[in-house]
Amino acid sequence: MKRLTILCDADDTIQELTEHWLSELNCKHNYHVKKEDITSWDVTKAFPGLTPEEVLEPLYRDEFWDRTTSVEGSPYYLKKLVDDGHKLLIVTASNPETFEAKTEKLLELFPFLTKEQIIRENNKQSVKGDILIDDGVHNLINGAYIKFLYHQPNNSGFNEKEHDITRVYSWKEIYERICHMVA
Ligand SMILES: [Mg+2]
Repeated sequence: MKRLTILCDADDTIQELTEHWLSELNCKHNYHVKKEDITSWDVTKAFPGLTPEEVLEPLYRDEFWDRTTSVEGSPYYLKKLVDDGHKLLIVTASNPETFEAKTEKLLELFPFLTKEQIIRENNKQSVKGDILIDDGVHNLINGAYIKFLYHQPNNSGFNEKEHDITRVYSWKEIYERICHMVA
């Protein structure tokens, strides 16, 4: 079996971010924004009465990251990919100030990962790998890797077929597609 280097995004691909972020903002500022309402990359658009600083504020609190959870199925299927012998790297375009708290939570949610497997990189196209799984279309476009777009409301309006990108809907599907690729 072929062993792949699998690059994988963190936020909203394996670590639920938007849901927890919205719940913080809704609670604090009395909004009722749902994840389905976030149909672009810019979350500030969903909170027209708040400043960008107010919208981003929760992300700079360590205890916010501590409350995040894993995306359904991701711990189980990522572990299976590692057990199958693939090299896994988590590539996250984090702010340096939030990276440590995020990394700590990732290591707790995915205990089979090591710190060295979690990379902070804004230009994901510069990282070498066979495949990237990401919910951000800007990370996939022009990448030299095979591209899996993790379906989220923020990318639902994007036509992935025009960019040689495969839209994926669950971690089970991702696992099965990778198994099929290397069989
Ligand atoms: Mg993401």
